[in-house]
Amino acid sequence: MSAFLVLQRIQLDDLMQVCSSPDCIETSGAMMSQMDLSVDPCSDFYEYSCARGLQDPSFIPPDKSKWGLFSKLDKRNKAVIKKLMDETNGTYEGVNSSAVYKSKVYYDTCMNATIRENLGIDPMLQVIDNVGSWPLTDQHWNANDWDVEENLAMAYGYGVSPFFSIFVSTDDKNSNKQMICFDQGGTTFSDYNRYSGNESEKFHAAFVKYFRSVSQLLGAEESESAQAAEEVWQFETKISAIQTKPENRTDPWELYHLMTIGQLKQDFSGWLNLSRFVEVLFEEAIPDGEKVIVYAPDFLSNLTSIVNSVEKSVLANYLTWHMVLSLVPLMPLSFRLAMLDFEYAQSGVQSSPALWEECIERTTGTIGFAVGALFVKKSFSEDSKQNVQKILDGIRNAFEESLPETSWMDVNTRERALDKAKAIIDKIGYPDFIKQPAELDAYYEKLKFEGTSEFNNSLAARIFYVKKNLLKLKNETDRTEWAMSPEMVNAYYSPAMNEIVFPAGILQKPFYDANYPKSLVYGAIGMVMGHELTHGFDNSGRKYDKHGNLHDWWTNSSVTAFDKRTQCLVEEYSAFKVQSENLNGLTTLGENIADNGGIKSALKAYKTWKDESGVRDIKLPGLNMTSEQLFFLSFSQVWCSYYTPQYALQSLVTDPHSYAKFRVIGVLKNMPEFASAFQCAKGTPMNSGERCSVW
Ligand SMILES: [Zn+2]
Repeated sequence: MSAFLVLQRIQLDDLMQVCSSPDCIETSGAMMSQMDLSVDPCSDFYEYSCARGLQDPSFIPPDKSKWGLFSKLDKRNKAVIKKLMDETNGTYEGVNSSAVYKSKVYYDTCMNATIRENLGIDPMLQVIDNVGSWPLTDQHWNANDWDVEENLAMAYGYGVSPFFSIFVSTDDKNSNKQMICFDQGGTTFSDYNRYSGNESEKFHAAFVKYFRSVSQLLGAEESESAQAAEEVWQFETKISAIQTKPENRTDPWELYHLMTIGQLKQDFSGWLNLSRFVEVLFEEAIPDGEKVIVYAPDFLSNLTSIVNSVEKSVLANYLTWHMVLSLVPLMPLSFRLAMLDFEYAQSGVQSSPALWEECIERTTGTIGFAVGALFVKKSFSEDSKQNVQKILDGIRNAFEESLPETSWMDVNTRERALDKAKAIIDKIGYPDFIKQPAELDAYYEKLKFEGTSEFNNSLAARIFYVKKNLLKLKNETDRTEWAMSPEMVNAYYSPAMNEIVFPAGILQKPFYDANYPKSLVYGAIGMVMGHELTHGFDNSGRKYDKHGNLHDWWTNSSVTAFDKRTQCLVEEYSAFKVQSENLNGLTTLGENIADNGGIKSALKAYKTWKDESGVRDIKLPGLNMTSEQLFFLSFSQVWCSYYTPQYALQSLVTDPHSYAKFRVIGVLKNMPEFASAFQCAKGTPMNSGERCSVW
């Protein structure tokens, strides 16, 4: 019976119409150019799908540390935006828009290298002065005049977080409420291995070289800058040692500590008057009784003994270094060459991106919704929005319909899971306000670009965003907010909002196109949608309820079964290796759960679409593949990625996602549907028979 059904499916697929439109020919050509047909798909499907593309040296731009479909689309979106920026006269649909005009001003000042060179180091010296000056560049610097609360608040006001981080965000236990939050931070490298791992000497040398180059360009004496670089490195090494490691930060219950400002004050005693610091930062007194969330209480108390053990001049050198570090990309060429040297040591990039690319990146980073308004008008139609909504609805249905099959959960927990899935809000393309010029202008009203230099405009934007964030404390959570701007090639699930968000930037070819075979669409954007949805039920997301609150809605037996199933994934992924280093199955667990669940929902939704629409999906010319084979190929090629050797290793520690190759292999090994689509014999590497399954 089952053999007959398979046979029937193959025959139906044989009847699929081969599409010979120019679009299909182009798509097919692009897919085939990646594939290495000499590799057996049942042996290594990633190599089969990607190897030829990855061997082609022209595939790898020298200014990138990782390159694949996401980065290619990102570059294409940037090229679209460049044209829009070059052509705009500051209007939106014929109406003057101050926000669009501001985006143009920012972009133009960024592109003006002459002004940047002419201004030289003066703007940076002004900022250094504002954060309490730098012993290295100021002969008159005096420890007695150095006011840590003022200077630290000033640096935070510019969006820089030395020592620790402080921000306003949603209360994990009451998602309607905004709270002041404290967390660990304070190091130049976010990867602790760089301070203490095997290669720490290499990174030590790169750090010292960069610190010295930049400080000397700003006027520091050679010997003093060498000594300060060493002192700051030692100081950061101590800070990095007290940071909680990523694998111990995966449980939101363990991270959440509710304290009052009054209680937290003790943790800072001897170096920072916390009340005064927050008063300067928030521009009003915050009472001792104010409740705050502390994600790293041990870090903060240990930080105090480290800070109290060094001279004030070290603190000043360290704080100013972080301020300077964040502004180097806006400085003249000599600074940016020093930065490139440092980046090469870190991630292996060999050149800087073209100026226009950097400027589009920074313009969208600075005023993304205004740029997004133009981008959406150009590249994302209402039809696309409706089509994408239909696909997403199908993915949601597939996820919900598969819940009864999760027999490892008891009935009560399963019902609450279904409740939560139904409550997930989706946002597609862009927030509505960007299409209303008056509302868009109001959003950026307080952002003023008065300078003629990008440097000053960037400072104005930093101050604007920090204030915007701190002001959230006064209001209830705004659930209409978007954490990404529309042109971004990305998507997210927010546990506190219980929402999934897909910006217009990713709803483009080759993730989505109305004329593509649906097999490709479901394998690419469909899988991304399923991935984000599944995040609501990963090892961290599952701990939030349908209202976005940390709240235990699971029975003990279901938790035990969940842990057993996820442990299978931890072991599976921990066994994968990159340059003889193992993946960290614990820190990547959330993403691996999402990948594995996401593709299942996408495949189920695709099959339902085929059954219900009665439309025969199209075949691609030259690729003699069934629709399910195309689905898996499309999924795999989303992740074909080149890494520099340096970045490959870095990503194992800093990226919560698994290394791209194993995002493909790890998922497909777990899928009997893959093995049957490619008729992989039992015992072949892609059908080893050992499978993990959660959602
Ligand atoms: Zn994810």
